[in-house]
Amino acid sequence: MGGGQAGLAAGYHLRRAGLDFTILDAQPEPGGAWRHGWDSLRLFSPARHSPLPGWPMPRYPGDGYPTAQHVVDYLTAYEKRYELPVERGVRVRSVRRVDSGYDVDGRFAEAVISATGTWWRPFVPALARRLGGRQLHTVQYRNPRQLTGQRVVVVGGGNSGAQIAADLAGHVDLTWITRRPPRYLPDEIDGRTLFGIATHNPGGVGALGDIVAVPPVREARDRGLLTAHPMDRELLAAADTVIWCTGFRPALGHLAPLGLRDHHGRVTGRPRLHLLGYGNWTGPASATLIGVGPTARAAVRTIADEPGAAPRSRSRISRSPST
Ligand SMILES: Cc1cc2nc3c(=O)[nH]c(=O)nc-3n(C[C@H](O)[C@H](O)[C@H](O)COP(=O)(O)OP(=O)(O)OC[C@H]3O[C@@H](n4cnc5c(N)ncnc54)[C@H](O)[C@@H]3O)c2cc1C
Repeated sequence: MGGGQAGLAAGYHLRRAGLDFTILDAQPEPGGAWRHGWDSLRLFSPARHSPLPGWPMPRYPGDGYPTAQHVVDYLTAYEKRYELPVERGVRVRSVRRVDSGYDVDGRFAEAVISATGTWWRPFVPALARRLGGRQLHTVQYRNPRQLTGQRVVVVGGGNSGAQIAADLAGHVDLTWITRRPPRYLPDEIDGRTLFGIATHNPGGVGALGDIVAVPPVREARDRGLLTAHPMDRELLAAADTVIWCTGFRPALGHLAPLGLRDHHGRVTGRPRLHLLGYGNWTGPASATLIGVGPTARAAVRTIADEPGAAPRSRSRISRSPST
């Protein structure tokens, strides 16, 4: 379930294991969440450091790190290259346990992989409902033209907050609110180092900082345009628009019938149910392009090793030294 990067990485390994599978994806077109980011969104790292299993992302022909459109093009081509059987426009509503597997909206599956991402479940604090102006979340932000002439407050000291504040700086009357002073990672650290650390350290990179100083953020910061203020209700109330860059929750509503949530709102695995790509809790750096492959491979290996999970079709993917 889910045909973004995590679902495709799973598809690659399922294909390679020769298992019979289908990928159900709610969207009409490939690309997952990358199709929905703001206009200036780019990767944190060069293309060669953002590979899915088997076939690395082609080089980005322009300046700087790849755009979101480049990632969409890559995911589109990846799906085609490995002939991954993605059914589009299919939103899974409920997964239920049945005797020897799962009922997925009336389809039977011996095993399921949930890779539905987080973009689809934005988190906005309850306070937003008590404010008068327009309240947006990261997922609704596109570009500064949307907010011309407005007093805008951006809330959030993570990467989305910093990038959107930098995007708006100089274009609108901007206030940036963060819970604590912004913690920039050293300028020389980009996704390459970051994902390396996240892969080998389950605690993530929190001790080093929260914000990758990507070029637009660095530039706005160095020009003195990114001054952060502590939380202030009056500033929020006076804004025409508040953009809440306050994160996401895993999109796991379809698993609710299984009643698996722990007290963090996460889901723990069950036999033949695997969770992929939601964050470090589903595998080191598994929410990233470079990190999702190993977790996908481990999930598929477990499924393939289950008694009775004999390959149904011959794999059409040959072994590749890069995986
Ligand atoms: C601002 C931002 C910047 C990022 N920058 C980077 C970066 O530089 N490098 C990097 O590697 N990662 C980055 N990431 C992280 C990560 O790569 C993306 O979040 C990525 O989109 C996650 O992929 P996914 O496949 O897990 O989820 P998604 O891309 O969200 O794909 C999930 C798919 O599942 C579908 N779906 C959802 N619910 C259902 C359902 N019930 N039934 C069927 N289908 C469903 C969705 O429509 C979607 O197509 C960034 C993330 C954000 C938010």
